[in-house]
Amino acid sequence: MASRRFDYIVVGGGSSGCVVASRLVAEHNARVLLVEAGPHRLSPILAMPAGYMKFLARDTYLTMHHVLPQEQLGGRAPIVPQAKVLGGGSAVNAMVYIRGQTEDYDGWDEALGGAGWSYRDLLPYFIRQEGNDHLGAPYHGVDGPLKVSHLGQHSAMSRAFMQAMQERGVPYTADFNGARQNGVGFMQHTIDWATRRRCSAVDAFLRPVLLHSNLTVLTETTVTRIRLEKGRAIGVDIVGPSGSETLFADVEVILAAGTYMTPKLLMLSGIGPAGELSRHGITVTVDLPGVGQNLQDHHEVPIVAMTSGAFGYFGQDRGLAMLRNGLQYMLFKTGAVTTTGVEACAFIDPEGGARPTIQLYCVPTVYLDRDVSGVEPTHGVTLNPCLLRPKARGSVRLASADPSALPLVDPQFFGDADDLRLTIAGLRYAREVLSTKPVRDMVRHEIFPGPMMESDADLANHCRRTVKTNYHPVGTCRMGREADPLAVVTPDLAVRGIRGLRIVDASIMPTITSGNTNAPVLAIADRAVDIITGQNRMLREPVAAPPNRASSIPEQVHPT
Ligand SMILES: Cc1cc2nc3c(=O)[nH]c(=O)nc-3n(C[C@H](O)[C@H](O)[C@H](O)COP(=O)(O)OP(=O)(O)OC[C@H]3O[C@@H](n4cnc5c(N)ncnc54)[C@H](O)[C@@H]3O)c2cc1C
Repeated sequence: MASRRFDYIVVGGGSSGCVVASRLVAEHNARVLLVEAGPHRLSPILAMPAGYMKFLARDTYLTMHHVLPQEQLGGRAPIVPQAKVLGGGSAVNAMVYIRGQTEDYDGWDEALGGAGWSYRDLLPYFIRQEGNDHLGAPYHGVDGPLKVSHLGQHSAMSRAFMQAMQERGVPYTADFNGARQNGVGFMQHTIDWATRRRCSAVDAFLRPVLLHSNLTVLTETTVTRIRLEKGRAIGVDIVGPSGSETLFADVEVILAAGTYMTPKLLMLSGIGPAGELSRHGITVTVDLPGVGQNLQDHHEVPIVAMTSGAFGYFGQDRGLAMLRNGLQYMLFKTGAVTTTGVEACAFIDPEGGARPTIQLYCVPTVYLDRDVSGVEPTHGVTLNPCLLRPKARGSVRLASADPSALPLVDPQFFGDADDLRLTIAGLRYAREVLSTKPVRDMVRHEIFPGPMMESDADLANHCRRTVKTNYHPVGTCRMGREADPLAVVTPDLAVRGIRGLRIVDASIMPTITSGNTNAPVLAIADRAVDIITGQNRMLREPVAAPPNRASSIPEQVHPT
Protein backbone atom coordinates (compact mmCIF):
# COMPACT_ATOMS: atom_id res chain seq x y z
CA MET A 1 0.00 0.00 0.00
CA ALA A 2 1.35 3.45 -0.92
CA SER A 3 2.22 5.60 2.07
CA ARG A 4 -0.12 8.49 2.80
CA ARG A 5 1.51 11.88 2.38
CA PHE A 6 0.41 15.39 3.30
CA ASP A 7 2.00 18.81 3.24
CA TYR A 8 1.39 19.30 6.96
CA ILE A 9 0.43 16.95 9.76
CA VAL A 10 -1.17 18.70 12.72
CA VAL A 11 -1.04 16.63 15.91
CA GLY A 12 -3.97 17.40 18.21
CA GLY A 13 -7.33 18.78 17.12
CA GLY A 14 -7.84 21.14 20.07
CA SER A 15 -8.07 24.92 20.18
CA SER A 16 -4.76 25.57 18.43
CA GLY A 17 -4.87 22.55 16.09
CA CYS A 18 -8.26 23.52 14.64
CA VAL A 19 -7.08 27.06 13.87
CA VAL A 20 -3.85 25.97 12.21
CA ALA A 21 -5.32 23.11 10.18
CA SER A 22 -8.27 25.12 8.91
CA ARG A 23 -6.26 28.22 8.01
CA LEU A 24 -3.63 26.16 6.16
CA VAL A 25 -6.36 24.51 4.11
CA ALA A 26 -8.65 27.47 3.55
CA GLU A 27 -6.08 30.20 2.96
CA HIS A 28 -3.07 28.31 1.63
CA ASN A 29 -4.69 25.38 -0.11
CA ALA A 30 -2.30 23.04 1.68
CA ARG A 31 -2.92 19.29 2.03
CA VAL A 32 -3.40 18.88 5.77
CA LEU A 33 -3.91 15.93 8.07
CA LEU A 34 -5.36 16.72 11.50
CA VAL A 35 -5.01 13.90 14.04
CA GLU A 36 -7.09 13.99 17.23
CA ALA A 37 -6.99 11.39 20.00
CA GLY A 38 -10.54 12.10 21.16
CA PRO A 39 -13.89 11.63 19.43
CA HIS A 40 -15.42 13.82 16.74
CA ARG A 41 -18.94 13.89 18.07
CA LEU A 42 -19.78 15.28 21.44
CA SER A 43 -22.90 15.52 23.53
CA PRO A 44 -25.29 18.28 22.38
CA ILE A 45 -25.43 19.30 26.05
CA LEU A 46 -21.92 20.76 25.67
CA ALA A 47 -23.21 23.26 23.13
CA MET A 48 -25.47 24.76 25.82
CA PRO A 49 -23.74 27.42 27.93
CA ALA A 50 -24.61 25.65 31.21
CA GLY A 51 -23.88 22.19 29.83
CA TYR A 52 -20.12 21.95 30.42
CA MET A 53 -20.61 21.67 34.20
CA LYS A 54 -22.13 18.21 33.75
CA PHE A 55 -18.85 16.97 32.29
CA LEU A 56 -16.23 18.64 34.49
CA ALA A 57 -15.81 15.69 36.81
CA ARG A 58 -16.18 12.96 34.19
CA ASP A 59 -13.60 11.51 31.85
CA THR A 60 -16.00 11.33 28.88
CA TYR A 61 -14.17 14.15 27.07
CA LEU A 62 -11.36 14.81 29.53
CA THR A 63 -8.08 13.08 30.33
CA MET A 64 -7.58 13.11 34.10
CA HIS A 65 -3.82 13.38 34.38
CA HIS A 66 -1.58 11.66 36.89
CA VAL A 67 -0.45 14.28 39.36
CA LEU A 68 2.53 13.61 41.62
CA PRO A 69 1.70 13.94 45.33
CA GLN A 70 2.51 17.53 46.21
CA GLU A 71 4.76 17.71 49.25
CA GLN A 72 3.91 21.38 49.84
CA LEU A 73 0.20 20.42 49.91
CA GLY A 74 0.71 17.72 52.53
CA GLY A 75 0.83 15.01 49.86
CA ARG A 76 -2.41 16.01 48.15
CA ALA A 77 -2.55 15.49 44.37
CA PRO A 78 -5.14 17.90 42.89
CA ILE A 79 -6.92 16.80 39.75
CA VAL A 80 -5.69 18.35 36.47
CA PRO A 81 -7.85 17.49 33.47
CA GLN A 82 -7.17 18.14 29.79
CA ALA A 83 -9.65 17.98 26.94
CA LYS A 84 -9.76 14.90 24.73
CA VAL A 85 -12.20 15.62 21.91
CA LEU A 86 -12.16 17.39 18.55
CA GLY A 87 -12.07 21.07 19.51
CA GLY A 88 -10.02 20.29 22.63
CA GLY A 89 -10.41 22.76 25.47
CA SER A 90 -12.60 25.03 23.35
CA ALA A 91 -15.23 22.29 23.16
CA VAL A 92 -15.45 21.52 26.88
CA ASN A 93 -14.34 24.69 28.63
CA ALA A 94 -16.32 27.34 30.49
CA MET A 95 -16.14 29.58 27.37
CA VAL A 96 -14.66 32.60 29.17
CA TYR A 97 -13.00 34.90 26.62
CA ILE A 98 -10.19 36.93 28.20
CA ARG A 99 -7.07 37.98 26.35
CA GLY A 100 -4.86 38.89 29.30
CA GLN A 101 -2.78 41.99 29.89
CA THR A 102 -0.68 43.95 27.42
CA GLU A 103 2.31 43.43 29.69
CA ASP A 104 2.08 39.63 29.28
CA TYR A 105 2.77 39.75 25.57
CA ASP A 106 5.09 42.75 25.73
CA GLY A 107 7.12 40.83 28.32
CA TRP A 108 7.46 37.89 25.92
CA ASP A 109 8.42 40.17 23.08
CA GLU A 110 11.04 41.96 25.11
CA ALA A 111 12.59 38.67 26.26
CA LEU A 112 12.55 37.47 22.64
CA GLY A 113 14.28 40.60 21.36
CA GLY A 114 11.28 42.07 19.54
CA ALA A 115 10.34 39.01 17.53
CA GLY A 116 6.72 39.99 16.95
CA TRP A 117 4.94 38.68 20.06
CA SER A 118 3.89 41.98 21.67
CA TYR A 119 0.21 42.70 22.29
CA ARG A 120 0.34 45.15 19.43
CA ASP A 121 1.51 42.31 17.19
CA LEU A 122 -1.21 39.93 18.36
CA LEU A 123 -4.13 42.36 18.49
CA PRO A 124 -4.85 42.06 14.74
CA TYR A 125 -5.20 38.29 15.16
CA PHE A 126 -7.60 38.65 18.09
CA ILE A 127 -9.64 41.12 16.07
CA ARG A 128 -9.64 39.11 12.87
CA GLN A 129 -10.89 35.99 14.66
CA GLU A 130 -13.61 37.68 16.66
CA GLY A 131 -17.28 38.13 15.86
CA ASN A 132 -18.34 40.10 18.92
CA ASP A 133 -22.06 40.68 19.25
CA HIS A 134 -21.90 44.21 20.67
CA LEU A 135 -18.30 45.45 21.09
CA GLY A 136 -16.37 46.87 18.16
CA ALA A 137 -13.28 48.84 17.17
CA PRO A 138 -10.61 49.51 18.19
CA TYR A 139 -10.27 46.38 20.35
CA HIS A 140 -12.85 43.99 18.92
CA GLY A 141 -13.75 42.29 15.69
CA VAL A 142 -17.37 42.13 14.64
CA ASP A 143 -17.37 39.80 11.67
CA GLY A 144 -14.88 37.07 12.54
CA PRO A 145 -15.87 33.41 12.87
CA LEU A 146 -15.29 33.16 16.64
CA LYS A 147 -18.54 34.33 18.15
CA VAL A 148 -18.11 36.24 21.42
CA SER A 149 -20.89 37.67 23.57
CA HIS A 150 -22.06 38.33 27.08
CA LEU A 151 -24.18 35.68 28.75
CA GLY A 152 -27.94 35.58 28.30
CA GLN A 153 -28.65 35.85 32.03
CA HIS A 154 -26.88 37.24 35.08
CA SER A 155 -27.84 36.13 38.57
CA ALA A 156 -28.80 38.47 41.40
CA MET A 157 -25.61 37.42 43.23
CA SER A 158 -23.34 38.25 40.28
CA ARG A 159 -24.90 41.70 40.06
CA ALA A 160 -24.60 42.25 43.82
CA PHE A 161 -20.94 41.16 43.67
CA MET A 162 -20.28 43.82 41.05
CA GLN A 163 -21.94 46.46 43.21
CA ALA A 164 -20.03 45.38 46.32
CA MET A 165 -16.74 45.61 44.44
CA GLN A 166 -17.63 49.12 43.30
CA GLU A 167 -18.55 49.97 46.87
CA ARG A 168 -14.98 48.93 47.71
CA GLY A 169 -13.62 51.34 45.08
CA VAL A 170 -13.00 48.89 42.24
CA PRO A 171 -14.16 50.48 38.98
CA TYR A 172 -16.78 48.86 36.79
CA THR A 173 -15.52 47.83 33.37
CA ALA A 174 -17.70 46.92 30.44
CA ASP A 175 -14.82 45.20 28.66
CA PHE A 176 -11.96 43.19 30.19
CA ASN A 177 -10.47 42.98 26.68
CA GLY A 178 -10.56 46.69 26.02
CA ALA A 179 -8.56 49.68 27.14
CA ARG A 180 -7.93 48.33 30.64
CA GLN A 181 -8.33 45.00 32.35
CA ASN A 182 -8.53 46.38 35.92
CA GLY A 183 -11.96 46.44 37.45
CA VAL A 184 -15.08 44.39 37.98
CA GLY A 185 -17.49 43.34 35.27
CA PHE A 186 -19.29 40.61 33.41
CA MET A 187 -17.03 38.33 31.39
CA GLN A 188 -17.32 37.78 27.65
CA HIS A 189 -17.80 34.23 26.43
CA THR A 190 -17.26 32.29 23.21
CA ILE A 191 -21.01 31.95 22.73
CA ASP A 192 -22.96 32.81 19.61
CA TRP A 193 -25.51 35.42 20.70
CA ALA A 194 -27.90 34.51 17.88
CA THR A 195 -28.16 30.82 18.80
CA ARG A 196 -26.98 30.97 22.43
CA ARG A 197 -24.70 28.05 21.67
CA ARG A 198 -21.02 27.48 22.39
CA CYS A 199 -18.71 28.58 19.60
CA SER A 200 -15.77 26.16 19.80
CA ALA A 201 -12.71 26.13 17.56
CA VAL A 202 -14.51 23.48 15.52
CA ASP A 203 -17.56 25.71 15.07
CA ALA A 204 -15.52 28.81 14.29
CA PHE A 205 -12.67 27.44 12.21
CA LEU A 206 -12.80 23.76 11.33
CA ARG A 207 -16.43 23.13 10.38
CA PRO A 208 -16.39 25.52 7.39
CA VAL A 209 -13.57 23.48 5.80
CA LEU A 210 -14.49 19.99 6.99
CA LEU A 211 -15.56 18.93 3.51
CA HIS A 212 -12.55 20.48 1.77
CA SER A 213 -10.78 17.87 -0.33
CA ASN A 214 -7.38 18.96 1.03
CA LEU A 215 -8.31 18.27 4.66
CA THR A 216 -8.17 14.86 6.28
CA VAL A 217 -9.32 14.58 9.90
CA LEU A 218 -8.62 11.41 11.86
CA THR A 219 -10.33 11.22 15.25
CA GLU A 220 -9.95 8.62 18.00
CA THR A 221 -6.46 8.33 16.60
CA THR A 222 -3.36 8.88 18.68
CA VAL A 223 0.06 9.98 17.49
CA THR A 224 2.56 7.79 19.33
CA ARG A 225 5.81 9.15 17.90
CA ILE A 226 7.22 11.73 15.55
CA ARG A 227 9.30 10.14 12.83
CA LEU A 228 12.71 11.80 12.53
CA GLU A 229 15.21 11.29 9.74
CA LYS A 230 18.51 13.08 9.25
CA GLY A 231 17.58 15.88 11.64
CA ARG A 232 14.15 16.42 10.13
CA ALA A 233 10.59 15.51 11.14
CA ILE A 234 9.19 13.50 8.26
CA GLY A 235 5.95 12.13 9.67
CA VAL A 236 4.17 10.50 12.58
CA ASP A 237 3.26 7.05 13.83
CA ILE A 238 -0.43 6.73 14.65
CA VAL A 239 -2.68 4.20 16.32
CA GLY A 240 -6.36 4.40 15.43
CA PRO A 241 -9.48 2.33 14.87
CA SER A 242 -7.90 0.60 11.88
CA GLY A 243 -4.57 -0.14 13.51
CA SER A 244 -1.10 1.40 13.31
CA GLU A 245 0.34 3.37 10.43
CA THR A 246 3.10 5.81 9.58
CA LEU A 247 1.96 8.96 7.79
CA PHE A 248 4.29 11.41 6.11
CA ALA A 249 4.54 15.21 6.05
CA ASP A 250 6.32 16.75 3.07
CA VAL A 251 6.58 20.19 4.64
CA GLU A 252 6.13 20.11 8.44
CA VAL A 253 4.82 18.25 11.45
CA ILE A 254 2.97 20.70 13.71
CA LEU A 255 2.42 19.82 17.36
CA ALA A 256 -0.82 21.05 18.97
CA ALA A 257 -1.37 18.31 21.57
CA GLY A 258 -1.47 20.73 24.51
CA THR A 259 0.73 21.55 27.48
CA TYR A 260 0.80 18.04 28.94
CA MET A 261 0.91 15.93 25.77
CA THR A 262 3.18 17.92 23.45
CA PRO A 263 6.25 17.52 25.71
CA LYS A 264 5.35 13.86 26.21
CA LEU A 265 5.37 13.31 22.43
CA LEU A 266 8.67 15.13 22.01
CA MET A 267 10.27 13.00 24.72
CA LEU A 268 8.87 9.76 23.28
CA SER A 269 10.44 10.80 19.97
CA GLY A 270 13.90 11.39 21.44
CA ILE A 271 13.69 15.16 21.92
CA GLY A 272 14.06 16.30 25.52
CA PRO A 273 16.30 16.24 28.58
CA ALA A 274 18.95 13.58 27.85
CA GLY A 275 18.89 12.20 31.41
CA GLU A 276 15.11 11.80 31.44
CA LEU A 277 15.09 10.06 28.03
CA SER A 278 17.94 7.71 28.93
CA ARG A 279 16.17 6.76 32.16
CA HIS A 280 13.38 5.35 29.99
CA GLY A 281 15.68 3.75 27.42
CA ILE A 282 14.81 6.29 24.71
CA THR A 283 17.57 7.17 22.25
CA VAL A 284 18.41 10.86 22.51
CA THR A 285 18.15 12.66 19.16
CA VAL A 286 18.19 16.20 20.52
CA ASP A 287 19.11 17.01 24.10
CA LEU A 288 16.61 19.78 24.95
CA PRO A 289 16.58 20.24 28.73
CA GLY A 290 13.56 22.59 28.66
CA VAL A 291 11.08 20.01 27.34
CA GLY A 292 8.47 19.46 30.07
CA GLN A 293 9.89 22.20 32.34
CA ASN A 294 8.40 25.64 33.11
CA LEU A 295 4.84 24.35 33.72
CA GLN A 296 2.58 27.17 34.92
CA ASP A 297 -1.12 26.98 35.69
CA HIS A 298 -3.65 29.32 37.23
CA HIS A 299 -4.97 27.99 40.52
CA GLU A 300 -7.60 29.17 42.95
CA VAL A 301 -8.88 28.69 46.47
CA PRO A 302 -12.55 29.05 47.47
CA ILE A 303 -14.27 30.97 50.20
CA VAL A 304 -17.89 29.88 50.50
CA ALA A 305 -20.91 31.49 52.15
CA MET A 306 -24.47 30.30 52.58
CA THR A 307 -27.07 32.80 51.39
CA SER A 308 -30.46 33.68 52.77
CA GLY A 309 -32.22 32.96 49.49
CA ALA A 310 -31.93 31.66 45.95
CA PHE A 311 -29.67 34.32 44.40
CA GLY A 312 -27.84 31.89 42.12
CA TYR A 313 -28.30 28.60 40.33
CA PHE A 314 -28.40 25.97 43.06
CA GLY A 315 -31.01 23.34 42.12
CA GLN A 316 -31.58 24.69 38.61
CA ASP A 317 -30.06 21.57 37.04
CA ARG A 318 -32.31 19.03 38.72
CA GLY A 319 -35.90 17.81 38.73
CA LEU A 320 -38.69 20.07 37.57
CA ALA A 321 -36.47 23.16 37.47
CA MET A 322 -34.17 21.39 35.01
CA LEU A 323 -37.11 20.43 32.78
CA ARG A 324 -38.47 23.98 32.86
CA ASN A 325 -35.06 25.50 32.12
CA GLY A 326 -34.41 23.03 29.30
CA LEU A 327 -37.76 23.77 27.71
CA GLN A 328 -37.30 27.54 28.08
CA TYR A 329 -33.89 27.30 26.44
CA MET A 330 -35.13 25.18 23.55
CA LEU A 331 -38.17 27.35 22.88
CA PHE A 332 -36.93 30.85 23.62
CA LYS A 333 -33.11 30.65 24.08
CA THR A 334 -33.46 32.34 27.45
CA GLY A 335 -33.19 31.38 31.11
CA ALA A 336 -30.72 29.58 33.36
CA VAL A 337 -29.28 27.40 30.56
CA THR A 338 -27.95 30.52 28.81
CA THR A 339 -25.46 31.15 31.59
CA THR A 340 -22.25 29.26 32.32
CA GLY A 341 -22.83 29.88 36.03
CA VAL A 342 -19.69 32.03 36.30
CA GLU A 343 -20.69 35.45 35.07
CA ALA A 344 -18.70 38.13 36.84
CA CYS A 345 -15.15 38.55 38.02
CA ALA A 346 -12.76 41.26 39.08
CA PHE A 347 -9.13 41.86 38.16
CA ILE A 348 -7.45 43.31 41.22
CA ASP A 349 -4.30 43.37 43.29
CA PRO A 350 -5.32 42.68 46.90
CA GLU A 351 -1.94 44.06 47.97
CA GLY A 352 -2.67 47.44 46.39
CA GLY A 353 -0.51 47.39 43.24
CA ALA A 354 -1.65 48.93 39.98
CA ARG A 355 -1.35 45.77 37.86
CA PRO A 356 -3.92 43.07 38.70
CA THR A 357 -2.41 39.94 40.25
CA ILE A 358 -5.68 38.14 41.05
CA GLN A 359 -8.77 37.27 39.05
CA LEU A 360 -11.51 37.11 41.67
CA TYR A 361 -14.33 34.92 40.34
CA CYS A 362 -17.85 35.14 41.70
CA VAL A 363 -19.61 31.77 41.43
CA PRO A 364 -23.19 32.30 42.57
CA THR A 365 -23.50 28.85 44.15
CA VAL A 366 -21.53 26.52 46.45
CA TYR A 367 -18.82 25.25 44.14
CA LEU A 368 -15.93 23.06 45.22
CA ASP A 369 -13.67 20.58 43.49
CA ARG A 370 -14.59 16.95 43.91
CA ASP A 371 -11.62 16.12 46.12
CA VAL A 372 -12.79 18.61 48.75
CA SER A 373 -15.34 16.99 51.02
CA GLY A 374 -17.45 18.13 53.94
CA VAL A 375 -19.40 21.00 52.36
CA GLU A 376 -22.93 20.23 51.25
CA PRO A 377 -24.30 21.92 48.13
CA THR A 378 -26.84 24.62 49.03
CA HIS A 379 -27.91 28.15 48.12
CA GLY A 380 -24.73 30.13 48.44
CA VAL A 381 -21.88 31.99 46.82
CA THR A 382 -18.27 30.97 46.23
CA LEU A 383 -15.57 33.58 45.68
CA ASN A 384 -12.39 32.21 44.14
CA PRO A 385 -9.22 34.31 44.14
CA CYS A 386 -7.15 32.91 41.27
CA LEU A 387 -3.45 33.78 40.88
CA LEU A 388 -2.83 35.44 37.53
CA ARG A 389 0.94 34.95 37.37
CA PRO A 390 2.07 32.25 39.79
CA LYS A 391 5.81 32.23 40.43
CA ALA A 392 6.15 28.48 41.03
CA ARG A 393 7.21 26.32 38.10
CA GLY A 394 6.13 22.70 37.71
CA SER A 395 7.00 20.03 35.19
CA VAL A 396 5.75 17.22 32.97
CA ARG A 397 7.84 14.06 32.81
CA LEU A 398 7.46 10.65 31.26
CA ALA A 399 5.99 7.86 33.37
CA SER A 400 7.41 5.33 30.92
CA ALA A 401 8.42 4.89 27.29
CA ASP A 402 5.02 3.34 26.62
CA PRO A 403 3.08 5.84 24.43
CA SER A 404 -0.21 4.83 26.04
CA ALA A 405 1.00 5.83 29.53
CA LEU A 406 -0.05 9.25 30.78
CA PRO A 407 2.79 11.61 31.69
CA LEU A 408 3.59 12.56 35.28
CA VAL A 409 2.41 16.08 36.06
CA ASP A 410 3.96 18.05 38.91
CA PRO A 411 1.99 21.34 39.04
CA GLN A 412 3.79 22.74 42.12
CA PHE A 413 0.79 24.78 43.31
CA PHE A 414 2.16 26.98 46.13
CA GLY A 415 5.67 25.74 45.41
CA ASP A 416 6.68 29.39 45.81
CA ALA A 417 5.92 31.12 49.12
CA ASP A 418 4.82 34.31 47.33
CA ASP A 419 2.00 32.42 45.62
CA LEU A 420 0.62 31.29 48.96
CA ARG A 421 1.00 34.77 50.47
CA LEU A 422 -0.86 36.40 47.58
CA THR A 423 -3.66 33.82 47.66
CA ILE A 424 -4.15 34.42 51.37
CA ALA A 425 -4.36 38.16 50.64
CA GLY A 426 -6.95 37.31 47.98
CA LEU A 427 -8.98 35.26 50.46
CA ARG A 428 -8.97 38.07 53.00
CA TYR A 429 -10.07 40.46 50.27
CA ALA A 430 -12.88 38.07 49.23
CA ARG A 431 -14.01 37.84 52.84
CA GLU A 432 -14.32 41.62 52.93
CA VAL A 433 -16.43 41.52 49.77
CA LEU A 434 -18.80 39.09 51.51
CA SER A 435 -19.32 41.69 54.22
CA THR A 436 -19.82 44.61 51.83
CA LYS A 437 -23.26 45.84 50.79
CA PRO A 438 -25.31 44.55 48.96
CA VAL A 439 -23.68 41.08 49.15
CA ARG A 440 -23.66 41.39 52.96
CA ASP A 441 -27.47 41.55 53.00
CA MET A 442 -27.76 38.30 51.01
CA VAL A 443 -25.19 36.26 52.91
CA ARG A 444 -26.21 34.25 55.98
CA HIS A 445 -22.72 33.19 57.07
CA GLU A 446 -19.40 31.93 55.79
CA ILE A 447 -19.35 28.13 55.75
CA PHE A 448 -15.91 27.39 54.33
CA PRO A 449 -13.26 27.72 55.63
CA GLY A 450 -15.42 29.41 58.30
CA PRO A 451 -15.03 32.68 60.20
CA MET A 452 -12.92 31.02 62.92
CA MET A 453 -10.17 30.44 60.36
CA GLU A 454 -8.47 33.80 60.65
CA SER A 455 -4.76 33.46 61.13
CA ASP A 456 -2.32 33.19 58.23
CA ALA A 457 -1.57 29.64 59.36
CA ASP A 458 -5.28 28.68 59.26
CA LEU A 459 -5.75 30.21 55.83
CA ALA A 460 -2.56 28.58 54.55
CA ASN A 461 -3.92 25.21 55.63
CA HIS A 462 -7.19 25.97 53.88
CA CYS A 463 -5.22 26.86 50.73
CA ARG A 464 -3.26 23.60 50.79
CA ARG A 465 -6.41 21.60 51.36
CA THR A 466 -8.53 23.14 48.63
CA VAL A 467 -6.34 24.66 45.91
CA LYS A 468 -7.53 23.61 42.47
CA THR A 469 -6.58 24.24 38.88
CA ASN A 470 -8.33 26.89 36.83
CA TYR A 471 -7.56 24.60 33.84
CA HIS A 472 -4.93 26.80 32.19
CA PRO A 473 -1.64 24.85 31.99
CA VAL A 474 1.00 26.45 29.75
CA GLY A 475 4.71 26.75 29.21
CA THR A 476 6.22 23.25 28.97
CA CYS A 477 7.84 23.88 25.56
CA ARG A 478 8.59 27.51 26.00
CA MET A 479 9.60 29.89 23.28
CA GLY A 480 12.97 31.56 23.79
CA ARG A 481 16.09 33.00 22.27
CA GLU A 482 19.11 30.97 21.21
CA ALA A 483 20.91 31.82 24.47
CA ASP A 484 18.03 30.57 26.64
CA PRO A 485 19.05 27.06 27.74
CA LEU A 486 15.46 26.07 28.56
CA ALA A 487 13.94 27.33 25.30
CA VAL A 488 12.30 24.51 23.35
CA VAL A 489 11.10 26.52 20.36
CA THR A 490 12.52 29.59 18.65
CA PRO A 491 10.43 32.76 18.33
CA ASP A 492 9.31 31.21 15.02
CA LEU A 493 7.92 28.25 16.98
CA ALA A 494 10.40 25.83 15.41
CA VAL A 495 11.67 23.06 17.68
CA ARG A 496 15.36 23.65 18.26
CA GLY A 497 17.72 21.19 16.65
CA ILE A 498 15.16 19.59 14.31
CA ARG A 499 13.91 20.82 10.95
CA GLY A 500 10.27 20.56 9.88
CA LEU A 501 8.85 20.47 13.41
CA ARG A 502 6.88 23.25 15.06
CA ILE A 503 4.71 23.74 18.16
CA VAL A 504 1.65 26.00 18.13
CA ASP A 505 -0.23 25.24 21.37
CA ALA A 506 -0.34 26.61 24.93
CA SER A 507 2.96 24.91 25.77
CA ILE A 508 4.97 27.58 23.90
CA MET A 509 4.04 30.44 26.26
CA PRO A 510 7.16 31.57 28.10
CA THR A 511 4.98 32.91 30.93
CA ILE A 512 1.29 32.47 31.56
CA THR A 513 -1.09 35.19 30.41
CA SER A 514 -3.06 37.11 33.03
CA GLY A 515 -6.45 35.56 32.37
CA ASN A 516 -8.13 32.55 30.81
CA THR A 517 -5.93 30.97 28.17
CA ASN A 518 -8.19 29.91 25.30
CA ALA A 519 -8.32 33.30 23.53
CA PRO A 520 -4.51 33.70 23.70
CA VAL A 521 -4.00 30.16 22.35
CA LEU A 522 -6.31 30.82 19.40
CA ALA A 523 -4.46 34.04 18.53
CA ILE A 524 -1.04 32.37 18.89
CA ALA A 525 -2.15 29.62 16.50
CA ASP A 526 -3.35 32.16 13.95
CA ARG A 527 -0.05 33.99 14.13
CA ALA A 528 1.71 30.62 13.81
CA VAL A 529 0.07 30.09 10.42
CA ASP A 530 1.58 33.33 9.14
CA ILE A 531 4.97 32.27 10.44
CA ILE A 532 4.73 28.77 8.96
CA THR A 533 3.70 30.03 5.55
CA GLY A 534 6.10 32.97 5.61
CA GLN A 535 3.28 35.40 5.02
CA ASN A 536 3.40 37.63 8.05
CA ARG A 537 0.92 39.98 6.50
CA MET A 538 -0.47 41.31 9.74
CA LEU A 539 2.74 41.99 11.61
CA ARG A 540 2.87 45.59 12.69
CA GLU A 541 0.38 46.50 10.02
CA PRO A 542 -2.95 48.25 10.49
CA VAL A 543 -5.89 46.04 11.34
CA ALA A 544 -7.71 45.00 8.20
CA ALA A 545 -10.92 46.70 9.16
CA PRO A 546 -14.35 46.65 7.56
CA PRO A 547 -15.19 50.04 6.03
CA ASN A 548 -17.21 51.31 8.97
CA ARG A 549 -14.45 50.79 11.53
CA ALA A 550 -11.28 52.64 12.46
CA SER A 551 -8.22 50.93 11.08
CA SER A 552 -5.49 51.97 13.47
CA ILE A 553 -4.23 49.94 16.40
CA PRO A 554 -4.03 52.06 19.52
CA GLU A 555 -0.51 52.61 20.79
CA GLN A 556 -1.34 51.80 24.37
CA VAL A 557 -3.84 49.24 25.52
CA HIS A 558 -4.63 48.15 29.10
CA PRO A 559 -2.64 50.99 30.66
CA THR A 560 -2.16 50.32 34.35
C1 LIG B 1 -12.39 21.98 31.83
C2 LIG B 1 -11.69 23.15 31.21
C3 LIG B 1 -12.23 24.42 31.36
C4 LIG B 1 -11.57 25.53 30.79
N1 LIG B 1 -12.19 26.76 30.83
C5 LIG B 1 -11.65 27.78 30.10
C6 LIG B 1 -12.35 28.99 29.92
O1 LIG B 1 -13.49 29.16 30.36
N2 LIG B 1 -11.76 29.98 29.20
C7 LIG B 1 -10.50 29.85 28.67
O2 LIG B 1 -9.99 30.80 28.07
N3 LIG B 1 -9.83 28.69 28.81
C8 LIG B 1 -10.39 27.64 29.46
N4 LIG B 1 -9.74 26.45 29.52
C9 LIG B 1 -8.39 26.37 28.91
C10 LIG B 1 -8.39 26.36 27.39
O3 LIG B 1 -9.46 25.62 26.89
C11 LIG B 1 -7.03 25.83 26.94
O4 LIG B 1 -6.04 26.78 27.32
C12 LIG B 1 -6.92 25.60 25.44
O5 LIG B 1 -7.92 24.73 24.99
C13 LIG B 1 -5.55 25.02 25.12
O6 LIG B 1 -5.48 24.76 23.75
P1 LIG B 1 -4.39 23.78 23.16
O7 LIG B 1 -4.56 23.79 21.71
O8 LIG B 1 -3.07 24.14 23.74
O9 LIG B 1 -4.72 22.33 23.77
P2 LIG B 1 -6.10 21.53 23.79
O10 LIG B 1 -7.24 22.40 23.45
O11 LIG B 1 -6.12 20.80 25.09
O12 LIG B 1 -5.94 20.51 22.58
C14 LIG B 1 -5.03 19.46 22.57
C15 LIG B 1 -5.67 18.30 21.82
O13 LIG B 1 -4.67 17.37 21.47
C16 LIG B 1 -5.19 16.07 21.60
N5 LIG B 1 -4.06 15.16 21.77
C17 LIG B 1 -3.23 15.07 22.83
N6 LIG B 1 -2.29 14.13 22.61
C18 LIG B 1 -2.53 13.64 21.37
C19 LIG B 1 -1.87 12.65 20.59
N7 LIG B 1 -0.80 12.01 21.02
N8 LIG B 1 -2.39 12.35 19.37
C20 LIG B 1 -3.49 13.02 18.90
N9 LIG B 1 -4.14 13.97 19.62
C21 LIG B 1 -3.64 14.27 20.83
C22 LIG B 1 -6.10 16.15 22.81
O14 LIG B 1 -7.05 15.10 22.80
C23 LIG B 1 -6.69 17.54 22.67
O15 LIG B 1 -7.94 17.52 22.01
C24 LIG B 1 -10.35 25.34 30.08
C25 LIG B 1 -9.83 24.06 29.92
C26 LIG B 1 -10.48 22.97 30.47
C27 LIG B 1 -9.89 21.60 30.29
